[in-house]
Amino acid sequence: MTARILDGAAIARQIREEVRAEALAFVNAGGGKPGLGALLVGDDPASHIYVASKTKACEELGLHHVTERLPVSATTEDVLAVVTRFNEDPAIHGILVQLPLPKQVDAVRVLDAVSPGKDVDGFHPENVGLLSQGRTRFAPCTPAGVMEMLRREGIDPKGRCAVVVGRSDIVGKPMALLLLHAHATVTIAHSRTADLGAVTRTADILVAAAGKPGLLRAEHVRDGAVVVDVGIHRIQTQEEATDLLSPARLAKFDPAKGAVVGDVHWPSVSEVAWALTPVPGGVGPLTIAMLMSNTLRAAKLFARS
Ligand code: NDP
Repeated sequence: MTARILDGAAIARQIREEVRAEALAFVNAGGGKPGLGALLVGDDPASHIYVASKTKACEELGLHHVTERLPVSATTEDVLAVVTRFNEDPAIHGILVQLPLPKQVDAVRVLDAVSPGKDVDGFHPENVGLLSQGRTRFAPCTPAGVMEMLRREGIDPKGRCAVVVGRSDIVGKPMALLLLHAHATVTIAHSRTADLGAVTRTADILVAAAGKPGLLRAEHVRDGAVVVDVGIHRIQTQEEATDLLSPARLAKFDPAKGAVVGDVHWPSVSEVAWALTPVPGGVGPLTIAMLMSNTLRAAKLFARS
């Protein structure tokens, strides 16, 4: 069997088009442009790429955006000063603090300082509490994107067994909560799970968010499961490529450029899963689309307050 490909990039384009149209209607109704304030600290190349993709999305969707950059030597106080400025700026409705922050910066203090009404990443404890109670204000963008994709693909988690591999505050935990609110029976696996395969093979819906390239192989997946791959990794060596890429991608692999893969071992899992998200082109574009959607939502909530 060859898995059906869940085209996250195409769904993300639909969501973005909807946000663009809604944002325009909001502006025409006198609401003002929804605005995103992005804060980038340091020179991590991946973070620069992520922030550039997010601001480009704002541009395309007609959203106002401001990016503040701080050097890698920035202190917690420097970062808090930018967050405070964004909190007080009426043209900014959503605040994005690109993670990871340099290690001398107290990330918990910074994320707690973001105004809960502008917390479009959904990381503030107030929003985490609301999500946990099923009164979601802003769901974190990656798991929200996964739910939106399942909904648009007609995959209803209700009554299904869902397994989430990973328990981070950004992906694993909110993913599990959203699946639970959608009436799945949810299990969370992590690095101390004793027999990962025994757990993951119970999944009708398996979400891989462990941050380990190719961790989940055919032997971890039940025949006919829906597999969602959240992981993002850059591989460079021929050896990794030979193990992790499909024959078509392997044929084009250039070690100088590298390739992007997920937590799912595509060559084997695509033979047993019923449906599978690709990496790249799966969950990544959905994350950006949901950030845009949350920013529009923040602007609407602000207008009503
Ligand atoms: P974290 O490193 O914060 O969390 C990883 C989780 O996976 C932890 O809970 C860890 O367990 C668990 N884990 C690690 N190794 C194993 C293992 N061998 N077996 C089972 N569980 C394991 O990562 P994030 O949640 O931030 O991100 C996960 C992945 O998703 C990364 O590849 C990241 O790049 C990607 N990502 C992609 C996004 C997108 O837009 N597509 C957005 C955000 C992240 P423990 O808690 O015990 O340590």
